[in-house]
Amino acid sequence: MRKALVTGCCGFIGGHLTRMLVKQGWHVVGVDDLSNGDPSVLEDVNARCVPPALLPAYEAKNREPDKTLVITGDFAHEYVLMKIADGEFDVIFHLAANPRVEYSVKNPSSTTLNNVQKTIDLMTASIGKIDRFVFASSSAVYGNGVALPTKEASVTSPQSPYALQKLVVEQFGQLFNDLYEMDFVALRFFNVYGPGQLGSSPYSTAIAAWCDKLHDGKPLRSDGDGMQSRDMVYVEDIATAMIMCANYEKQFGFEVYNVATGDSLTNNQILEGLREYFPEMEVNHASERKGDVKHTLADVNKIAEEVEFVSSVEFWDGLQRTLRWWGLHE
Ligand code: NAD
Repeated sequence: MRKALVTGCCGFIGGHLTRMLVKQGWHVVGVDDLSNGDPSVLEDVNARCVPPALLPAYEAKNREPDKTLVITGDFAHEYVLMKIADGEFDVIFHLAANPRVEYSVKNPSSTTLNNVQKTIDLMTASIGKIDRFVFASSSAVYGNGVALPTKEASVTSPQSPYALQKLVVEQFGQLFNDLYEMDFVALRFFNVYGPGQLGSSPYSTAIAAWCDKLHDGKPLRSDGDGMQSRDMVYVEDIATAMIMCANYEKQFGFEVYNVATGDSLTNNQILEGLREYFPEMEVNHASERKGDVKHTLADVNKIAEEVEFVSSVEFWDGLQRTLRWWGLHE
């Protein structure tokens, strides 16, 4: 049985990934400080939440083999790092982060601590102890003005602290591969959507925020002219890509892949689609968000050819599944 550590296991993507891994027979330990996560996303994998301070006592006498251990604390807590250093995991899936562009613009220092510094602590503890490090990177590293569809080899031009933090971690991945032969794969997720994505924070992504407003019967907000376009990828496709990369039988060494659909839609197109379900919905217009990239569209050939991953959920189907989760669709 392969053993994985999933950081950010109670978050949107981490919850889907953890459930999929457990269903596929992996032994999973999760860690999440619950700053933006909710352990109830792991109800159906029989999770046992244990704060780091209680971990030694829990493991000494009461370890329940049928449960998925969720450490409710910082992923760089010394007890988590000790478990890694003890060689407990084959693969680390690192998703924990402050994941919002605008939030990072307002909080460059604290987000660098969380997204970079602590990640380096995690990677350092992993040297020589794991088979593979799978890192949740972002299409934000490309910035504006890159050729579309964007290939992994394109120039990077981070437009926010968040994007720069992701790129710096990728570069540490390259360095740790050179220095310590760490097998490191960075997956540049494009715009992820799906069930379980929270929409109530001012930093929420568009689809989750719109579902939240529809759910509450309030007007939707559209930023800028609505012509920004996004390569929207369904969350279960992201989890599948991560697991396929973990299972890839050759060594990556250091590798970077786009994870997306290879197709894009404008915000206005999505709003028009929503209007078919909700003809009465109101849309308020707001100014453009700082640090936001105008267009994203991935070239997905590299991951298709090398890892044989191709996204499988078409956008309007994924949107229906998401609306269903919100109770907005039959
Ligand atoms: P999320 O906020 O739902 O999940 C992140 C989880 O990490 C949260 O549960 C949070 O509580 C936890 N966390 C944050 N800091 C922590 C710490 N120091 N210790 C322990 N737990 C901590 O975000 P998400 O949308 O699921 O994103 C997951 C990853 O994917 C992030 O790294 C994000 O940057 C990346 N990503 C997401 C998208 C997207 O569209 N959602 C796109 C590109 C990349």
